[in-house]
Amino acid sequence: MQVLIVGGGIGGLTTALSLHAAGINCCIYESVVSLRALGVGINLQPNAVRELTELGLGDALAETAIETSTLAYYNKHGQLIWSEPRGRAAGYRWPQYSIHRGELLIILLDAVRARLGPEWIRTGHHFVGFEQDSFGVTARFARRPDGTSVMARGDILVGADGIHSSVRAQLYPNEGKPVFSGLIHWRGALEAEPFLDGRTQVMIGHHDQRSVVYPISAKSQRRGRSLVNWLTLLAAPGEDAERENWDRRVGKERFFEPFKHWNFPWLPLADLIASTAEIFEYPMSDRDPLPAWTFGRVTLLGDAAHPMRPVGSQAGSQGVVDARVLAHALAGAAEPAKGLLDYEATRRPAMNEVVLRNRQYGPEIVMQMAEERAPGGFNNIEDIIPRHELEDVSLSFKKAAGFDPETVNTRPSYGVARPAAV
Ligand SMILES: Cc1cc2nc3c(=O)[nH]c(=O)nc-3n(C[C@H](O)[C@H](O)[C@H](O)COP(=O)(O)OP(=O)(O)OC[C@H]3O[C@@H](n4cnc5c(N)ncnc54)[C@H](O)[C@@H]3O)c2cc1C
Repeated sequence: MQVLIVGGGIGGLTTALSLHAAGINCCIYESVVSLRALGVGINLQPNAVRELTELGLGDALAETAIETSTLAYYNKHGQLIWSEPRGRAAGYRWPQYSIHRGELLIILLDAVRARLGPEWIRTGHHFVGFEQDSFGVTARFARRPDGTSVMARGDILVGADGIHSSVRAQLYPNEGKPVFSGLIHWRGALEAEPFLDGRTQVMIGHHDQRSVVYPISAKSQRRGRSLVNWLTLLAAPGEDAERENWDRRVGKERFFEPFKHWNFPWLPLADLIASTAEIFEYPMSDRDPLPAWTFGRVTLLGDAAHPMRPVGSQAGSQGVVDARVLAHALAGAAEPAKGLLDYEATRRPAMNEVVLRNRQYGPEIVMQMAEERAPGGFNNIEDIIPRHELEDVSLSFKKAAGFDPETVNTRPSYGVARPAAV
């Protein structure tokens, strides 16, 4: 079997590693000419770390990322609403990691080049369209920078080409632009003094004005410092968001005013933002859940299949799990198209639910509850939100997203025993 993978992001690269581990041939076609370590912080939940560990990348992640100890929610006055242990401290057999997206990409890219061979990742190949028949699928690419047309033939085509997926656009030609949430976020990272225990992810504020902060670099940590990733988010009602682009740099005057007093005894957030050299702006968008991802020999994966609002730190993790489920399903299926349907049956219902849940706040709802019930702050959080309510919010999101400890720890592996060489 030969699988054509469109897109060399986290989803596409993990798909290649998973297929290779299952003994299935594949080739990645990536639009950009040179894959660079773009982005800032991203979280890998234990469900994704399990998959990457089973792919043999556990040591590389541990060397590079921060093992998250705690997730803590604060109100806009810096008062603690809820805090919970994460990863191994929460009973998972695998950690949660906070990592620089660019460093994660390099770990995956190096593994693909080493295991499959560098010729199986073709950069500068912009997917244009596909045709399929009963024997296979033919994909057309425009070579960059000269636009030469290139064809590739395979048994399966996987669209892992992100929120602006061209594969999805061919399957759903009338879908149009992503759905803008009315929220814009700004991101940056800078080296600073560690805050709290140096391994905690914090969320501060409420729905219309929020911040998320976490450290992302083991290298900085080894030097006694912390590479602090921050994200701020503001409601921008009525504003027509620009196209989603992870590389759009802006000045802090776009958003800083409402955050300028957000220096707390445990985190000088306003000072950190003011000192950050490069700030990226990104509209928070998603797309409506799809009724089908698979059409014959073609399917969708990662953000191409289920772009979601970044609530509950899910997007990167779910693409990783998709990749492993896909390889497992293809390895076990009598014919390729059946494998794709099995993959979709495992993943699409759960991902559609997460996309919709993330429009309803997700676990961050506890911040909104605190804002609505006590906008001026509180003496004791239990006076305004009982503990069982906080616990219920946390667990029900993890269950829906498929990463409650019991599910992650006890479900069978998606690994495939490679056929023995003859
Ligand atoms: C440059 C960049 C920076 C990001 N930074 C962050 C971040 O800091 N924090 C965070 O939480 N999330 C970030 N994300 C999003 C995050 O990586 C994804 O939400 C998640 O990991 C799912 O990954 P994916 O592989 O499905 O999609 P993506 O990561 O979006 O990868 C899609 C890939 O497909 C390629 N592609 C697109 N169109 C075509 C085409 N027509 N033909 C061939 N290839 C194509 C893209 O160049 C890209 O490499 C970033 C994404 C990108 C692309």
